[in-house]
Amino acid sequence: METMRLEVLKDDNPILRNKSIATLINDEVRTLVEDMKETMVLENGIGLAAPQIGVNLRVIVIKTLQEEIQEMINPTIIWFSEERVSMEEGCLSIRGHYVDILRPYMVGVKFMDINGKYRKWKLKGLEARVVQHEIDHLDGVLMTDYE
Ligand SMILES: [Zn+2]
Repeated sequence: METMRLEVLKDDNPILRNKSIATLINDEVRTLVEDMKETMVLENGIGLAAPQIGVNLRVIVIKTLQEEIQEMINPTIIWFSEERVSMEEGCLSIRGHYVDILRPYMVGVKFMDINGKYRKWKLKGLEARVVQHEIDHLDGVLMTDYE
């Protein structure tokens, strides 16, 4: 499969404000995931959501603490900790801008991987942060909305 680096949309693009829709796994989504992984790596990101490359489907990719890249299709937060922490966030769609945001320290996330297998991960710290930021993108929410 030939992958492509795609253009990351800037925050004034209306596509970033749409609510993205859940998807099945098909060839289009397989290609999308590969392109997103390649784009995220080349942009030195730790997370990327499909709307950022112009596709309003509920797909994100994140870089794990083990330096692996995990796709999450139709990710949902199913649990979050009472404990909240403030952390500075950046965004590939809003270059050079950082925002301190208070969010749950830990989350449980349920998602489907590219093989169609359902998984549940419990994440904390930076990984929990990235998943929450990327799922916000699927709902048309940008980090600057918290300012
Ligand atoms: Zn972002």
